[in-house]
Amino acid sequence: MKIAVVGGGCVGLTTALIIQEKLRNAHLDLIAENFEQTTSHVAAGIFRVGAAYSSPSESITRKWITDAYSFYEAIVKSREASEAGVSRISGYIFSNSHDNVKNEWMEGLVPIYRRVNESEMIMFGDNWKYGCFISTLLTQPNQYLKWAKNKLIQSGAILITKPIISLKELAKDYDLIMNCTGLGAKILCQDRKMIPIKGQVIKVRAPWLRTFSYGEINTYVIPGSDGLTTLGGLRDFESSDLTVCPYQAAAIRDRCERLVPSLKKAELVAHKTGLRPHREGGVRVEVEKINDGSYCSAVVHNYGHGGYGICTAPGTSKYAVELAEDALRTSSKL
Ligand SMILES: Cc1cc2nc3c(=O)[nH]c(=O)nc-3n(C[C@H](O)[C@H](O)[C@H](O)COP(=O)(O)OP(=O)(O)OC[C@H]3O[C@@H](n4cnc5c(N)ncnc54)[C@H](O)[C@@H]3O)c2cc1C
Repeated sequence: MKIAVVGGGCVGLTTALIIQEKLRNAHLDLIAENFEQTTSHVAAGIFRVGAAYSSPSESITRKWITDAYSFYEAIVKSREASEAGVSRISGYIFSNSHDNVKNEWMEGLVPIYRRVNESEMIMFGDNWKYGCFISTLLTQPNQYLKWAKNKLIQSGAILITKPIISLKELAKDYDLIMNCTGLGAKILCQDRKMIPIKGQVIKVRAPWLRTFSYGEINTYVIPGSDGLTTLGGLRDFESSDLTVCPYQAAAIRDRCERLVPSLKKAELVAHKTGLRPHREGGVRVEVEKINDGSYCSAVVHNYGHGGYGICTAPGTSKYAVELAEDALRTSSKL
């Protein structure tokens, strides 16, 4: 059986890892226009699913998030944790709105999710009204993507760097196609629900920071396991301009320094931008039959993760592979 995974970001590579584990005898090709510079490479990689993250149903969303957390938790507990770039991290979220410190996806999932106490409030100053302390996971995207790619190649997967113009063109060569093209699906699938949300971050060297901090107006400080700290951020809806905006950069730095004053001493390393693959109505994980006239294949879509694709990729990918197995069984290919 021949399977193509289209997309070399976190969703594509994670889907491929799960396929390799479940469909051991399949021939697996990974096809992507770009494996080295994807949106996934820009992300901070924190496991913090926003309250608005959704799938077609509440129970499926919860399953995706729980499965994703278990996937990364298993890596943290394994000897591969450091190579895969997955570690534990904890930190604070401050806000003047009670809603911003509540998160029903995260509460009950992570080992610690509690309101901050008086002395913690004083420690951060800035007269916040509400705050919470969370212990969660961090996936360092550069490391994780490299680790996943090496693991896939060692187990026989073939990497092919090329753009796909139409999924139908793959039908004659593959029994199953996993579509993990992120924002690329907007054109590839003519999916008008796909909307870019521009993000911009600053990478600084601040090795003394151990905990993450979130404040108002998309302000966050996330220390990475690679020694660099990510300062964010920006959520520019329907903007696909990847240039670094110097005004946004100055505003991000200023907000982050007010949240964590020791950052004033942090050395600037780089500015980065990326387009979050947001999908109105939620992430698309579903099967479609494609037919190019002579050949018929199953396509399983797995795209539209918005600002939560690093943390939730394993959950949607596990679900996508389950749908793929059902489709192969129905067509007697499994
Ligand atoms: C600033 C910023 C910070 C973020 N922080 C976090 C965070 O802390 N935690 C978190 O969970 N998420 C975070 N995100 C969101 C996360 O980065 C995305 O949700 C995630 O990267 C999406 O992964 P993906 O694999 O779907 O897409 P991508 O990483 O964009 O990969 C898409 C792949 O598909 C390929 N492709 C596209 N079209 C085609 C085509 N036609 N033919 C062939 N190949 C194609 C591309 O070349 C690429 O390889 C952040 C995003 C940004 C911008």
